[in-house]
Amino acid sequence: EMSSNKKLFVRALFDYDPNEDPTIPCKDAAVSFKRGDVLQIVSMEDDTWWQACHFMDSKSRAGLIPSRQLQERRVALQRPKALFKPRQVKPSAGSRRSFRLGRKSSWAREAARSRRWSAGVHGSIRPPTYMEVIPYRRDPKDRHRLVVLVGPSGVGVNELKRRLLISDPDHYGVTVPYTTREKRRQESEGVDYHFVSIRLFEEEILNHRFIEYGRYQGHYYGTSVDAVHRVMAQGRVCLLDVHPSKIKRVYTSEFKPYVVFVKPPHIEELRLTRRRAKFISDDDDANPEEDFEDMIELADAMENQYGHLFDKVIVNGDIALAFRELKAELKKIEEAEVQWISAEWTCISP
Ligand code: 5GP
Repeated sequence: EMSSNKKLFVRALFDYDPNEDPTIPCKDAAVSFKRGDVLQIVSMEDDTWWQACHFMDSKSRAGLIPSRQLQERRVALQRPKALFKPRQVKPSAGSRRSFRLGRKSSWAREAARSRRWSAGVHGSIRPPTYMEVIPYRRDPKDRHRLVVLVGPSGVGVNELKRRLLISDPDHYGVTVPYTTREKRRQESEGVDYHFVSIRLFEEEILNHRFIEYGRYQGHYYGTSVDAVHRVMAQGRVCLLDVHPSKIKRVYTSEFKPYVVFVKPPHIEELRLTRRRAKFISDDDDANPEEDFEDMIELADAMENQYGHLFDKVIVNGDIALAFRELKAELKKIEEAEVQWISAEWTCISP
């Protein structure tokens, strides 16, 4: 919990506009903020209204903001209304999609989703309000922060990763996965994979050495914590793409993950840009049209459940633009004098 005898900083996980808040005691004494802003908490004495100011803005004066408790109550009241907005389900006859995602099942899924929101990575069931953060000044001899890229499959995470690697191969790096399958002739140990025995792989599973692993055609494949260490020890920025549920495995001060969520654009833009990309490259991996709605739905679900862990959200409509934005963002955090990292990481020493 937050302690009161030191400077306390939080990252806001929601937008707040006092002009749209009829319950604020005094509009002029309130502070507005956007999701992602860093606020310095000045007083938490009142249970309902805290006092805070914007950290970066020297002109900013302290004012009222909703307390965590108040915001949690509000979210609890608002959630069901926002979530049960009826979705339009096209009744196109014989469509695989309308069969799988009838109105009822999609509502049931959203209800389940609304029960799952959690604020801390370590399991506390709370709606996201404020996350305590601390300033981090990276020394040039410190390792770079781990960059975690997440997003629904097909959204372009792999392509962004590929472009980053090509753009600066000495600066970025990726992990070498482990597998239990046989090495193919053109492959080399430690480059394409670490080829290991089933016994060793299963031992490593039991020792929690994998960030994620899975089975494919009877073989194990997985990414280990050590593989990330190795890339970071080379002085590189390690790029890791995993399902957002795996973030908690690297949510420690040794990795200081910077999490980028790649999300699809609006459905019309998605159709347009992906059709164009397919036309140019004749890319067989490109998503067939009927998967677009699924991708958007999955992206929404990810944002709902893990959004509080995302440092940056990038919309991938045009891949060239998305890449430029990502690269600029990574440069910016590397050069920033102060970065704001989770205060949770101070208690978990490497
Ligand atoms: P291959 O055996 O042809 O090199 O890879 C086959 C499949 O294994 C890949 O398409 C991918 O789905 C899966 N795979 C490769 N590396 C990993 C990994 O690190 N983790 C998981 N879960 N699957 C992987």
